[in-house]
Amino acid sequence: MSGTRGPRVAIIGCGLGGIAAAVKLKKKGLTDFTVFEQSDGPGGTWWDNRYPGCEVDIASHAYSFSFLTYDWTRTHAGQEELQRYTEHVLDRFDVRRHCRFGVRVESATWDDETARYEVRLADGTAEPFEVVISCLGLLSRPRYPDWPGLDRFEGPKFHTARWEHEHELTGKRVAVVGTGSTASQVVPAIAGKAGQLYVFQRQPGWVLPKDERDFTPRERALFRRLPFVQKVRRLFMFWKFRMLFKGYNPHGRTQRKILRLCHEYLEKTVEDPKLRAQLTPDYPWACKRPVLSTGFYPALNRPNVELVPHAVTRVTPNGIVDATGVERDIDVLVMATGFQTTKFLASLDVRGTGGVSIHDTWKDDPRAFLGITVPGYPNFFMLYGPNTNGGFSVIAQLERQAEVAARTVATMRRKRFRAVDTRPSATDRWVRWVDGQIRKNTSSSDGSCTNYYHAESGRNVTQWPKPHGEYYLLTKALPFLGFIKVR
Ligand code: NAP
Repeated sequence: MSGTRGPRVAIIGCGLGGIAAAVKLKKKGLTDFTVFEQSDGPGGTWWDNRYPGCEVDIASHAYSFSFLTYDWTRTHAGQEELQRYTEHVLDRFDVRRHCRFGVRVESATWDDETARYEVRLADGTAEPFEVVISCLGLLSRPRYPDWPGLDRFEGPKFHTARWEHEHELTGKRVAVVGTGSTASQVVPAIAGKAGQLYVFQRQPGWVLPKDERDFTPRERALFRRLPFVQKVRRLFMFWKFRMLFKGYNPHGRTQRKILRLCHEYLEKTVEDPKLRAQLTPDYPWACKRPVLSTGFYPALNRPNVELVPHAVTRVTPNGIVDATGVERDIDVLVMATGFQTTKFLASLDVRGTGGVSIHDTWKDDPRAFLGITVPGYPNFFMLYGPNTNGGFSVIAQLERQAEVAARTVATMRRKRFRAVDTRPSATDRWVRWVDGQIRKNTSSSDGSCTNYYHAESGRNVTQWPKPHGEYYLLTKALPFLGFIKVR
């Protein structure tokens, strides 16, 4: 173990996960770490996603770190404010000097003899680290469609997470493909500009309004002067989500109540009965990620917006073809088609004991103890790993994972361990328990909806099946059962 400051730690990714890991290490007095980030700045998903209308759909006071109060300007922060927030946290905890931006990590290979990872960078150089914390995020790799003809489309075409702002949309014929959380923000933001906007919907989602607004100057002054009011508001929101979470039971009263609210909202907001029918899902609420959007339904009422209730199957040089074979001429193609969510660590070659690749260990069925560690990969931690998405605020989930990593590294330093690994039996028990919980809720694979939760194995590998509180307690209580000293 190097120096007195503890093991050398590589944090990969400087989104909110990487920042959480850095702050938690610092709070434990562990300062020998480097944060590698392939982009030219921090923010992760909020750096990548700059599409018109980009705004978080979880309330700002919950979608933020618990260890810092902040002067949010809106109930739900927009991309620019979230970007400013990440920069603020970075500076507030003096993390920036640990960051290396524009540096992509390609692989981390464990060496049994030295009890270290060789971390190889895209420029061909390599550096040794005793601990690696991967913070790559779940929603970082766009899912580009494989439609025939896409390459030959002659107009601008881009994914929402790689928005090309140089293209003027005013008066243009634009197609937005997808009706998930992203599309529901893009559509109202560009509907007033486009001459004609086609929205392609493969399967409708359940939608409720987000109720976003600016905080009044009085509210902001109150939150600034009495930070505990912010904390109370945060706790209240987590409690409210606990109540809402009862709706994840497909047979419960809350599910029925939420469905009623969704129907009422649709009825009240969408004028045309035919359009309402096309927008009505036929599966339980929260089978897909519920959409929270105040502007989406009203935008579909506009005369220049047409909902096409079919999948896209093909693209021509000047148009787009739906599953019924109808072609529509378009100038710009926007792919709001989501992310490659089930291929964890897809961009990172992680090799553990005996040089075995983590992708060979998983065989398309990613699993991890607490969603954080994998047997055979000593001193390797993951944030936003398998079955950790959900629980209300992903930032709260990330904080818990960062704490487990930082606590374990601090223990290694204190007890002079060189390597800790994860018990396979603890991992198996954890995964069995998670699977059992998922079977009880609406995000399980009963085939009634399409969602991005299921790997090729058919297992739901992305979702955390409970509110955040359970994850909080389990990540405090269980690590001692799973981690063992190996060196
Ligand atoms: P998504 O939920 O995976 O949605 C992708 C959309 O593309 C779906 O509507 C899908 O249809 C559609 N699609 C794919 N191929 C298609 C085809 N050939 N023809 C027509 N439609 C097609 O992706 P997302 O909207 O980017 O959201 C991903 C996640 O990011 C969200 O669930 C959320 O966790 C997060 N997010 C959060 C916020 C926030 O404010 N916090 C904002 C945006 C995103 P199907 O529904 O039929 O699969």
